Amino acid sequence: MLTIPDFQQLSEQVSSCSRADVHQALQAPHPGLQGLAALLSPAASAMLPELARRSAAITAQRFGRTIQLYAPVYLSSFCTNRCAYCGFAADNTMDRRVLTMAEAEKEMDILHERGFNHILLVSGEAPAKMGVDYLAELARRTRDRFASITIEVQPLSTAEYARLFVAGITGVAVYQETYDRRTYDQVHLSGKKCDYDFRLASPDRVAQAGMREVGIGALLGLTDWRCEGMALGLHLAWLRKHFWRTALTVSFPRLCPAEGDFQPLTTVTEKDLSQLLFALRIYDPDVGLLLSTREEERFRTGMIGLGPTRYSAGSCTAPGGYAHPELEGEQFAVGDQRTLTEVCASIQAKGHDPVRKDWDSTFQKGF
Ligand code: SF4
Repeated sequence: MLTIPDFQQLSEQVSSCSRADVHQALQAPHPGLQGLAALLSPAASAMLPELARRSAAITAQRFGRTIQLYAPVYLSSFCTNRCAYCGFAADNTMDRRVLTMAEAEKEMDILHERGFNHILLVSGEAPAKMGVDYLAELARRTRDRFASITIEVQPLSTAEYARLFVAGITGVAVYQETYDRRTYDQVHLSGKKCDYDFRLASPDRVAQAGMREVGIGALLGLTDWRCEGMALGLHLAWLRKHFWRTALTVSFPRLCPAEGDFQPLTTVTEKDLSQLLFALRIYDPDVGLLLSTREEERFRTGMIGLGPTRYSAGSCTAPGGYAHPELEGEQFAVGDQRTLTEVCASIQAKGHDPVRKDWDSTFQKGF
């Protein structure tokens, strides 16, 4: 099983890197973990333009001038966990809802009509309200309309993931939130999510079940982002070694203030986030890098072409919010409020193609 070193050890490894180490990592075809440490280091913070140039060159080489677009569909705001940083936490007083099958299909239809072909189904972790039967039925009903349907729900068993794959789910996102055990225990107050190891092994089960893609990520603002970057690099290396057929993505959600007045435990600036993104692109040229609408328009526009390969757009984080925009109960505030058309225009203005449709699913069905 993957083991993540103590964050103190990772911090020392990163802090000890010099400018010369950063230069070496920028020139190496495969920088490896020591190179990643250099790229994440304080010494590299002063060399951000060099990191950006290298990251942009690798991204153009591996992905072309494209940004894939997706939209989340929030299915349920019920949750049995208490995560200190989340608006859906079980002890937050709010009106909660789970969409009926017809409501969920309606949300997906709206996004399909808007031109989305890649959908992320999201819910709180409350299996009694929204479990595998629900997801399998929804996937069966909608699979022909979308090139990919990814889920971000409670961690499941290998058999459950395999069942969902057969039903039409193509990918799973399971973020560790923080790879630092101490911080993990501090912010996960009760519920099944308190089991750090079960969560950490979830991407393995996803890949073992045959899913095409697995997404990992860290919630930035809980602890040292440089150490989280090292842990993400270790996790990527583990998954590449053991599950080389599975496509990998990384997300970088930065903490927003949530219901319950939780404030981020550490500050992660846009400059820090940029460095983390560039470092991971240089370290793992083929990984998909996601930048969601948590981030503001100005930052997302500035990052086009520099490393990220996938953007969400026109997002609503309240269940039923596409059909009923007046609904409250969002998991977090959206930083980029633009419509899909506006996001596409900004991508095109920077000489890139916004990709809403692709022929992945057609291709795969033929084999
Ligand atoms: S982060 Fe996820 S598991 Fe934690 S309270 Fe929010 S919805 Fe529930």
